[in-house]
Amino acid sequence: MTSPATKIRPIRDEAGADLSGAGLEPTGKPMAVEPLLEVSSVTLRYKTPGLIITATERVSFTVNSADRFVLLGPSGCGKSTLLKAVGGYLQPSEGSITIKGRKVTRPGPDRMMVFQEFDQLLPWKTVLENVTFPLANARGLSRRAAEEKARHYIEKVNLTRAIDSYPHTLSGGMKQRVAIARGMAMEPDILLMDEPFAALDALTRRTCQDELLQLWSDTRFTVLFVTHSIAEAIKIGNRILLLSPHPGRVKAEVVDVDTTSTADGSAGRLEQEIHDMLFSEEKHEE
Ligand code: ADP
Ligand code: MG
Repeated sequence: MTSPATKIRPIRDEAGADLSGAGLEPTGKPMAVEPLLEVSSVTLRYKTPGLIITATERVSFTVNSADRFVLLGPSGCGKSTLLKAVGGYLQPSEGSITIKGRKVTRPGPDRMMVFQEFDQLLPWKTVLENVTFPLANARGLSRRAAEEKARHYIEKVNLTRAIDSYPHTLSGGMKQRVAIARGMAMEPDILLMDEPFAALDALTRRTCQDELLQLWSDTRFTVLFVTHSIAEAIKIGNRILLLSPHPGRVKAEVVDVDTTSTADGSAGRLEQEIHDMLFSEEKHEE
């Protein structure tokens, strides 16, 4: 058994109906408010010469304000594709995506993205300039107001000492912190994070995860976080959506993830349960 608060809800429906997330908030109680993000029965296909690749099939979930919502699944199950669709970079082949009830049709500053790659900063701009740039350009803040906000978020990711440094002088972890500060400074409706710590060494990765959680306790922002690491999903998420291997379909949703459960070993048991749910269930299908 997992810790008593944590619940895994298998999502299995022969007809492929949308059962995930529907009508539930993190507590599992009926939802009173409209969800912030609603992904409804989204199928995403890539059309390549002579081949149509289905990345995700009829994926549905809802994210509520201040959720730390994790998409978890093995490589190739369509996590990045889904995140790009939420970002507005790709259009669903079927289904729909709405933010605050508005259909997502293109990228916008209400959905800031943090990627895995360390090269997402502008190399010719300093840390301060990288964070200030979208504030002045996309948010239209005055230079002074943009810098002030940028300084605030750079301090939040503990990078004030490197504020005038250029990206090539920073470690991978520092670059990812800048990307997080840049995303958060825009104060988006939702921060989209695509395996932002996957390329970091284990110790730095842990520090970055802790910092992200600390930031969340300070400001309660909403994050949609993609990972293929079960341990990372349990650490970061209050809700975890489990996606099957290629093509990605919703397998289950883990709600009320209890991140305090590590001491008594139940996080380890939850990891095992999630692993079994992700992979072994294939046998029961068909
Ligand atoms: P994940 O992020 O979970 O590893 P992706 O979303 O990157 O998975 O990929 C899902 C599937 O879509 C994979 O089979 C991948 O090969 C395919 N895919 C991803 N991007 C493209 C693309 N631009 N063109 C064609 N196929 C793609
Ligand atoms: Mg990916």
